[in-house]
Amino acid sequence: MKIINPADGTVITEITADNAAAVRRKYELARAGQRKWAKVPISKRLAAIAAFRERIVAMHETLARTLTHEVGKPIRQSRNELNGLLGRLDFFLHESARALHDEKVFADAGQKLEERITHEPLGVIANISAWNYPYFVGSNVFVPALVAGNAVLYKPSEFATLTGTHIAEMLHEAGIPRDAFVPVIGDGGTGAALLRQPIDGVFFTGSYPTGAKIAARAGKRMIKVQLELGGKDPIYVCDDVDIKAAAAGVADGAFYNTGQSCCSVERIYVHDSIHDRFVEAFVAEVKGYRLGDPMDEGTYIGAITRRPQLDVLKKQVADAKRKGAKLLLGGNIVKRKGNWFEPTVLTDVDHSMALMTDESFGPIIGIQSVADDVAAVDLMNDTAYGLTAGVYTTDAKRAKRILGQLRAGSVYWNCCDRVSPRLPWSGVGHSGIGLTLSTYGIQTFTRPKAWHLKSA
Ligand code: NAD
Repeated sequence: MKIINPADGTVITEITADNAAAVRRKYELARAGQRKWAKVPISKRLAAIAAFRERIVAMHETLARTLTHEVGKPIRQSRNELNGLLGRLDFFLHESARALHDEKVFADAGQKLEERITHEPLGVIANISAWNYPYFVGSNVFVPALVAGNAVLYKPSEFATLTGTHIAEMLHEAGIPRDAFVPVIGDGGTGAALLRQPIDGVFFTGSYPTGAKIAARAGKRMIKVQLELGGKDPIYVCDDVDIKAAAAGVADGAFYNTGQSCCSVERIYVHDSIHDRFVEAFVAEVKGYRLGDPMDEGTYIGAITRRPQLDVLKKQVADAKRKGAKLLLGGNIVKRKGNWFEPTVLTDVDHSMALMTDESFGPIIGIQSVADDVAAVDLMNDTAYGLTAGVYTTDAKRAKRILGQLRAGSVYWNCCDRVSPRLPWSGVGHSGIGLTLSTYGIQTFTRPKAWHLKSA
């Protein structure tokens, strides 16, 4: 398997992917490992995660550079991801013991009855991961899964394999046994081989089409399935905002990570009365974004990680233009080595265009004018997805009214493209099923067992 730098197309290295026999052996290793790992006290499991955190601090710059090298993420944004990871680890370190503690939910001396809940590990789980935020989307799964006593077969995306290998090395150095956290290396074929093993759960982060295949495969097996999938996340900008500040915030939400975030802003609706002024401020902001070598400190727009995505972006722009959209900025593949697309802004868009309905996953955005809040809410909910959605307004009551009507896992007021470890991360519709993060996202890696205890 070739590891290619998307910023210049060069081969970084070649590594051997796991074939079906290797995947089987790794499954067997993890099955035996899980029995031992489940007996390790939670305090020791947490101590290993704390040591993993220390490894990340010590290796910070090396990890950031590897990530930038293999996915084309601007170096400052790679460092930000690692800093964010430390916060998530702190959350898990702080909250897990409480979330996984046995609970006495009822006791009655007269009936000599006690009812308890324990949180049993699921067993051996597969963590099939994406490349766009490999530290975030991976750790949301493997950290609480390990802390809860599961063994994890972790398949990083084939586009973030080196990062996945770093993660495995650091976890092992930190004291997580090699048979409790087992990396599985390869592409979709390797992922499919992993799903053929008698695992106890699959936790997937990736696209809707792959998620649908995985759900169909796992459905027959009656194992736990969690899918964190894509989005077509909307923002509505009301007429009462500070236009320049709102434009800057929303543009960052759309173009950060080169638009390759599951919760990137993918559609913008602006109240008629401020539309033109907002567009002007938005375009000015985006013109300030520097596209270039992801290793440069000043770069904001990096490479497109997966080459086929260039075609998706090109087609969405062409389709929108053909149907009447106005191209204000960009619109083209950049002619340089590697995979690059210009930051692109279109107006006069509508929902007949793929740009406003299909996940773009790149640095392109459509801005649509709306007459009022009712029209904005209707358009925001007009999607098969439902990951995040948000509103910019200075009016708290108006914000709460609008947010309450949005069909999405996360809703934002005057912010966007934001994830908090304290809040559940989930999607509606094609954005997935299940959740990670928050205390629910710790307990999700367990099976609650009901104890009915009657003393004689
Ligand atoms: P992808 O679906 O192409 O691949 C995801 C993973 O699935 C990879 O590890 C891949 O090797 C594996 N895979 C592919 N085919 C498989 C099969 N048949 N069986 C088993 N495994 C298989 O997605 P991607 O390009 O890595 O990630 C981008 C997508 O992920 C976007 O849609 C994005 O919105 C979504 N995403 C969602 C979240 C979230 O939290 N909701 C977070 C990050 C990314």
